[in-house]
Amino acid sequence: MDGIATAEGLRWPTDPARAMMRHEQPIMTKSANALARTAYLAAAHTPQQLPPDDGREVVFAGRSNAGKSSALNTICNQNALARTSKTPGRTQQLVFFEVVKGKYLVDLPGYGYAKVSKDLRAHWQGFLNDYFRTRVALCGIVVVMDIRHPLREFDLDMLRFAADRGLPAHCLLTKCDKIGRGPQAQTLALVRKQLPERATAQVFSSETKQGVDEARAVVAGWLEV
Ligand code: GDP
Repeated sequence: MDGIATAEGLRWPTDPARAMMRHEQPIMTKSANALARTAYLAAAHTPQQLPPDDGREVVFAGRSNAGKSSALNTICNQNALARTSKTPGRTQQLVFFEVVKGKYLVDLPGYGYAKVSKDLRAHWQGFLNDYFRTRVALCGIVVVMDIRHPLREFDLDMLRFAADRGLPAHCLLTKCDKIGRGPQAQTLALVRKQLPERATAQVFSSETKQGVDEARAVVAGWLEV
């Protein structure tokens, strides 16, 4: 049999190369960038504000200025997607972007720059701890770090969260255009040596788009889109 019956009863060739040889047009069912239609959905400061916990979601975490917003925009091939999460007041909110229905990218604000009261900070930390401990939809964490300053305390915390939950983590060593290929490879090897089980790493640049396909594939794979 040359094709698969879909829910709609359509068929498409399972082997595009073979179909080409027979001059058939292979029908591509997925867009080249499965994340390209990602759009802002909502922000949550309390558990009640979270979307229903029945989909799949990937958290993007990173220290302030690591290049997280740029990475989110680059991976989704959009210009201003993650700007929303930088508006004042959003520093203590999980910002949800919907990739397709029920599949989310979650922007976790960079640590430490919000000047807030002790009570508010305690609330936020409690919320985050509960979210990471209990959120069923959470299927992976992308840890964004400047390649020149990798594996700082915040990054290690995130990797620990992932390891404690048995979740995969993927490190983006961003701004790799700022250093040469040799140092890139050296840093990547050093970082990989220190990663816990189920954690991976790659070099990345929003400037030159180096590593974008790899990052996109990891995230799309986790989300199953
Ligand atoms: P965030 O605070 O982690 O969201 O960081 P941003 O994405 O806002 O980036 C912080 C700064 O680093 C901005 O000036 C960006 O233009 C710059 N930046 C981000 N990614 C890259 C990159 O891959 N290469 C270079 N050269 N600069 C970058």
